[in-house]
Amino acid sequence: MSELRWNALRGEWTVTATHRQERTFFPPPDYCPLCPTRPGGFPTEVPYETYDLVSFENRFPSLQRLPPEPAVSGDDLQPVRPAYGACEVVLYTPEHDVTLAELPVSTIDRLVRVWQHRTAEMGARSDIAYVMPFENKGEEVGVTLSHPHGQIYAYPFIPPHLAAELAQARAHRAAHGGCLGCSLVAREEEDGRRIVGANDDWVAYVPFAARWPYETHVVARRHAALLTDLRPRQRRALARLLKALLLGFDRLFDRSFPYIMVVHQAPVDPATHADAHLHIEFYPPLRSAGKLKYLAGSEAGAGMFIDDTLPETTARALRACVDRGA
Ligand SMILES: [Zn+2]
Ligand SMILES: [Zn+2]
Ligand SMILES: [Zn+2]
Repeated sequence: MSELRWNALRGEWTVTATHRQERTFFPPPDYCPLCPTRPGGFPTEVPYETYDLVSFENRFPSLQRLPPEPAVSGDDLQPVRPAYGACEVVLYTPEHDVTLAELPVSTIDRLVRVWQHRTAEMGARSDIAYVMPFENKGEEVGVTLSHPHGQIYAYPFIPPHLAAELAQARAHRAAHGGCLGCSLVAREEEDGRRIVGANDDWVAYVPFAARWPYETHVVARRHAALLTDLRPRQRRALARLLKALLLGFDRLFDRSFPYIMVVHQAPVDPATHADAHLHIEFYPPLRSAGKLKYLAGSEAGAGMFIDDTLPETTARALRACVDRGA
């Protein structure tokens, strides 16, 4: 069962994906469906003895190229539509016990190339409006398979958070001219207090109005809309800064640091490309080494986040953990 149901109160889609209930949940250590298939061993998702980076369609996709007919019929008030789209898994390495932070810059660079390739290919489909690579890392964010991997979703519409960012960027252009993302990155550099790391092509900072204590954005210094706009030099520079930031996260509390990482790029529609400024957002769920930030009444019920730390303070702590010269 999988279908898009319209949430009339909020003006957004929810996807039902009941088959996901059967997902593999912490399999025994000798069976990982994302490890290569060992000779004579269990068949895994990857029928090879080893692999480099590999991406393939999620076995439990919520959005699909050929979705089933919706299980219920909608109406004008509460429309329903088939869950067109795609959900892919990207395996970073055949090694089971490493994290993205521990992989060499060259592998992170190859990952960015995979994101580019999938953006180009999925974005070329007529039913796709938006492509978003992301990674959930750590049990704290509900990861059921610890093998280092990320995902790429292709949506048949522009998802709400991206639509909101785009609306803000359009309003900014109308009022002040120019790109909002370009203005923000310039302002953060000028101010400096929230900068966590930087190189010639990218800046990492805790945003002025961070919603998570250690929320960090990695933003292109020069305007780029899509991952596919990046030149090889910019792509390599991104890989270097990501590696430095991820190691910094791990150093912060001296533990493997959980996070949600999302790539915010432009929608497929070229009309959005002047306003959508490429960046990567990290939402770490930790407030301190052992304390989680939960989405409670105000966050979940009203959409107003309460950050009980100052972005200037958390940025300073994080900056001290991030190597310069990335
Ligand atoms: Zn594995
Ligand atoms: Zn820009
Ligand atoms: Zn964003």
